[in-house]
Amino acid sequence: AMPDGAPMATLLFDAAPLPPKPRDGHKGTFGTVLVVGGNRGMGGAARMAGESALRLGAGKVILAVHPEQVIGMNAGRPELMVHGVDGVAALISLMSLADAVVLGPGLGQDDWAQTLALAALAFDGPMIVDADGLRFLSPVDSLVDPRAQSTVLTPHPAEAGRLLNCSTADVQADRFAAARALQARFGGAVLLKGAGSVLALRDGLKLCGRGDPALATAGTGDILSGMVGALLAMGFDADEALGRAVCWHAIAGEIEATASGSWGMAASDLLGPIRALANAQL
Ligand code: AMP
Ligand code: MG
Repeated sequence: AMPDGAPMATLLFDAAPLPPKPRDGHKGTFGTVLVVGGNRGMGGAARMAGESALRLGAGKVILAVHPEQVIGMNAGRPELMVHGVDGVAALISLMSLADAVVLGPGLGQDDWAQTLALAALAFDGPMIVDADGLRFLSPVDSLVDPRAQSTVLTPHPAEAGRLLNCSTADVQADRFAAARALQARFGGAVLLKGAGSVLALRDGLKLCGRGDPALATAGTGDILSGMVGALLAMGFDADEALGRAVCWHAIAGEIEATASGSWGMAASDLLGPIRALANAQL
């Protein structure tokens, strides 16, 4: 039996593949994802999130990045719509096109980042906040704030420690408690990343025991955020989008590790297996 007060967690369900793509669908049917990030020197993170959203099936993907990052962002991936954004007005007009927002990949922490983050956090629709986007969150009353219910937060342990005003070691000492505390403070569906990812969902805590240390490499978090963004844009609720994305992302890591080893995976290698998992073509 669990000691009194210890959080109970169940294992994350195996994600069902996406339903068949409707024959009469058009790109608008499958949602538009807006990725906000890609500051100077960090365009790759926004690009990976965007590619990942596209590969999971989003109808359209728009990247709102720093104006200096625009050149080259389309290289090899012309499907992405890349906009250099220099202020709130430009971002708001892109937000009006979006079904879901991914805030944070390569966002950074400077004035440009802060201005865009605060505007993006006012988005009136489903959103995932990751990476430096998490720096700009404010605590909510998660019981009464409907905005918080449709938000997905995906901190790694250091980001979680910053949000909870404690050390990374404190977070790791009780990952279940940390995930639950984050959800209580910031609302929504919360993922505490790392080996043995913990999800705080509406119906409680879940543990994803899948995955491989192949995933411990730059960009895998950005790939995950794009997956969640695509599922939100398709209309899945926050819990469902996060659960499916975490499951496919972890299994994609296992598939890559089995095929080629745990060393040396590049985050973009996950995109093929992720597409296959979502389509159940394995
Ligand atoms: P980030 O730290 O934002 O780049 O995200 C890293 C991603 O890789 C998250 O989804 C983590 O859960 C995953 N990950 C990192 N290290 C491991 C590991 N040792 N085993 C399984 N998954 C991991
Ligand atoms: Mg990250």
